[in-house]
Amino acid sequence: MATTPETLQALLAELSDLQPTTDPAALAAESRDYFWYSPILDEQLGDKRGELIVRPRTEAEVMRVAAAVAKHSVPLTIRGGGTGNYGQCVPLEGGVILDITGLNRVIEIEPGKVRCEAGILISALERAVKATGQALLMYPSTRDIATIGGFISGGYAGVGSIRHGILKDTGNVSLIRVVTVEAQPRVIELRDADIQKVHHAFGTNGIITELEVALAPAVAWLHHIMLFDSYAQCTAFGVACSKPEMDLFLLTSVDERFAQFYEVFGDRFPRGKHAMFAMVNPAVKADYEALGVAHGGAVSLCADDAELHALGLPPAYECAYNHTTLMALKVDRTYTYLQIAYPMPFDPQLVEKQMARYGDELFMHHEFSQQFGGYVVFALPLVQYFDRVRLYEIIAEFEADGCMVFDPHVYTIEDGGMKQIDHAQIDFKRLADPRGLMNPGKTRGWNAP
Ligand SMILES: Cc1cc2nc3c(=O)[nH]c(=O)nc-3n(C[C@H](O)[C@H](O)[C@H](O)COP(=O)(O)OP(=O)(O)OC[C@H]3O[C@@H](n4cnc5c(N)ncnc54)[C@H](O)[C@@H]3O)c2cc1C
Repeated sequence: MATTPETLQALLAELSDLQPTTDPAALAAESRDYFWYSPILDEQLGDKRGELIVRPRTEAEVMRVAAAVAKHSVPLTIRGGGTGNYGQCVPLEGGVILDITGLNRVIEIEPGKVRCEAGILISALERAVKATGQALLMYPSTRDIATIGGFISGGYAGVGSIRHGILKDTGNVSLIRVVTVEAQPRVIELRDADIQKVHHAFGTNGIITELEVALAPAVAWLHHIMLFDSYAQCTAFGVACSKPEMDLFLLTSVDERFAQFYEVFGDRFPRGKHAMFAMVNPAVKADYEALGVAHGGAVSLCADDAELHALGLPPAYECAYNHTTLMALKVDRTYTYLQIAYPMPFDPQLVEKQMARYGDELFMHHEFSQQFGGYVVFALPLVQYFDRVRLYEIIAEFEADGCMVFDPHVYTIEDGGMKQIDHAQIDFKRLADPRGLMNPGKTRGWNAP
C-alpha cells in the first residue's frame, strides 16, 4: 500500500497549512521506536518508513488529517513519544505519521482526576497535577519522553502499579475521546468499562485526542536501595512487602550482575550484592527497613528528590521496568530481554532454579506489582542473545515452569501480551476505522474489508 507520488502531492497540498514534511531524516527518526531492544524486531522493522509527517495541534486539525487519509486511502500511524518496545508506532505499510505531541493541553484538574489532551508528556502532566497536591497513579519509567495517550494505547503497567494496579484496572482511566478515520470523521467518547475497546490497541481503532485518568494525593516518595547477599533473600523480602499497609510506589529487585550497568551508584550497589530498589512512603520507612533487615538486607540509600538530585543519582523509577534493560543495553548491545508473569503465589525457589539453569545467559529482574486486586510478580530478565531458536527455547522453558511470557519480540497485539483476538476492540475498529487504515499489520484480528 505504498502511496503514489500523486496522492502524496495531494495530501501535501490539502494539509499544507499544517506544515507536513517529507524530510527523509525526520521520516527515518519518526518511523522508529525502541524495537531495537529485540534483535528479531530490529531485523524485521529497521527499514520501515512513513512517507509524510503531520503535526496537528488541535482536535479539529486531527479531524482534517483523518478525513484526508480516508479520502485518499492512505495508511495512518499515530506517534506519541515513540518509546514503545515492539514497533508499535512503526508504519509497516508507509503512509502518514500523525505526530500527536502538539495536542498537549491540560483541560481540567479536579480532586481525584485530570482531563487532558493525549499528546501531553507524562512528566508535564505530573507537574501540572502536583501543583494541586495530587499525583498520577502510575507512569512508565519513560515518563520524561512518553505521552499519556501513548501509555494508554501501548502500555500496560508501570511505576505505581504496586499501589494502584495496572492501567486496565477499574477506575484508573475513566474517559477516552477518539476521532474516527472516515471521510467525515466523528468524535466518540468512551467511558469507564468501554475504554477497554481502545486501551492497548496500538492506535489501530481511533485517534485518541483526550482522556481522563485518576489521581491520588501526592506523596514525597523516598528513593530507596537495600542490599542482600542472596537473590532469594531479596525476592522473599519483595513477597513480604506485598501487603497494603506497606505503602510503596515501586518495588524492583535486580540480581547482583546488574551492578556492572549501575556504576553511577558506586558502593550503594556494588558487585556481589543483590539490590531491591523501591519508592517508599516516609510514613512506613521504619517498618520497611526493619522488614528488610529481618530478611538479611542492609540499607544503602534512602533519599528524597532533593537529596537524590544533590547526590547526582537517578531516581529509583529509572532503575525499574524497562529502564533496567536500557541501562544494560547502553553498556552492551548483545543483550535482549523477556517479559514474564510468574505463577502466584510467587516462589523465590523457582527463580533460584531458573538462575541455576541459565547461569550467565540470563540476569534476573523482578517487578512486584498488583493487578485485578491482587499482588503479582512480573520479571524482565536480561538475556544474552544467541539466536532466535535459543530465545524461543528459553521462552518454552519459562512456560513449562508455569510462567506466562509476554513475547516482546513480535509486533502484533495478539502475539505479544494479548494472546488472543480482542473482539470488542475489533468491533470498535469497524466503527472507528472502517477502512482499516490505522497502523495496518498490528492486529491479526482485522481482515480488511
Ligand atoms: C526504557 C523503557 C521503559 C519502559 N517502561 C514501561 C513501563 O514501565 N510500562 C509500560 O507499560 N511501558 C513501558 N515502556 C513502553 C513505553 O515507553 C510506554 O508504553 C509509553 O507510555 C509509550 O508512550 P509513547 O508516547 O512513547 O507511545 P508511542 O510509542 O508513541 O506509541 C505507542 C502506541 O500507541 C499508539 N498511540 C500513541 N498515541 C496515540 C493516540 N493519541 N491515539 C491512538 N493511538 C496512539 C501508537 O500508534 C503506538 O501503537 C517502556 C519503554 C522503554 C523504552
